[in-house]
Amino acid sequence: MHREPTRKGDLVTLTDGTLTEADARAMFERMRWPNGPVCTFNDCGGSEIYRLVVAGKTLKSGRVVGPRELFKCKACRRQFSVTKGTAFEDSKIPLRTWLTVMYRMCSSKKSVSARQIEREFGLSHRAAWFMCHRIRWMMTDKNPDRLFGTVEADETYVGGKHRGPQRKATTESRRLAYHSKTPVFGMVERDGDVRAMVMPKVSQKNVEHTIWNNVDRANTQLMTDEHPVYFHMAKMLPHGVIRHESEYVRGEVHTNTIESFWAILKRGLVGTYHHVDAGYLNMYVNEYEFRHNSRKVSDRERFLKLASQASDGRLMWYVKPEPDEEPS
Ligand SMILES: [Zn+2]
Repeated sequence: MHREPTRKGDLVTLTDGTLTEADARAMFERMRWPNGPVCTFNDCGGSEIYRLVVAGKTLKSGRVVGPRELFKCKACRRQFSVTKGTAFEDSKIPLRTWLTVMYRMCSSKKSVSARQIEREFGLSHRAAWFMCHRIRWMMTDKNPDRLFGTVEADETYVGGKHRGPQRKATTESRRLAYHSKTPVFGMVERDGDVRAMVMPKVSQKNVEHTIWNNVDRANTQLMTDEHPVYFHMAKMLPHGVIRHESEYVRGEVHTNTIESFWAILKRGLVGTYHHVDAGYLNMYVNEYEFRHNSRKVSDRERFLKLASQASDGRLMWYVKPEPDEEPS
């Protein structure tokens, strides 16, 4: 799945700030098409491609564009650029900035905030915010494999802190705090991948449906706590239940793996959210899932994996920037 060939020394230019736009385009071209460019139009896929150089020009706004290299397909005669059909298509942000920020997000243990990107790259907050969310979307595994073996499932609640002094919390303020939290449901294969997502309502139906569709049903042993939504799981899968009132581990039966994932997620998000729209939170959950699932590879390999996911289609959902909901 990784598209390997990046030239020796490429990653140095990503981290020391010397990457030029032309280098970035050449680097992305090698990552995207290791065997040479192919036509990006779905109805064609031709592999005989010409290179064109379009002269640079100054737009009315004063912005200078190009010169840039385009490709032309011999079969269908259409032109395309190296970013056609990727998450960077139509972006006014230079590709070198995209790649550098992607590398930053792959090489840091915690999330990188839009505020930080804004300062370091001289972008507007809106541009930095949107860029970070697009990269999180790229991190999403669009075709995940089913989990198998021993799989732990659990739910957690994120955000929704009490406002005002803690000791004055009333039943009413606790009720409000509870309702402003966003539920996140997750499953983890021991020593394997995590699948986690915002689940607007943690109901028996939603939980059963999600587990059923994300595990290899013939080869899975499920571990959960005693929450009532899991009561009927034993009819579907071998099911071990840990009773947190009286025990934490009983032999193989525990949910410690998913709980440590929740701890990492929450530590990363601490102080960020009071109330957060489920759509935005899901993006952060995707990022932590990506980081967990690629924890055994190097920063370089993680970056190549991310770049290979940049062309799985474009970000189609509309997001409105919400400048103050970012970690700083
Ligand atoms: Zn074509």
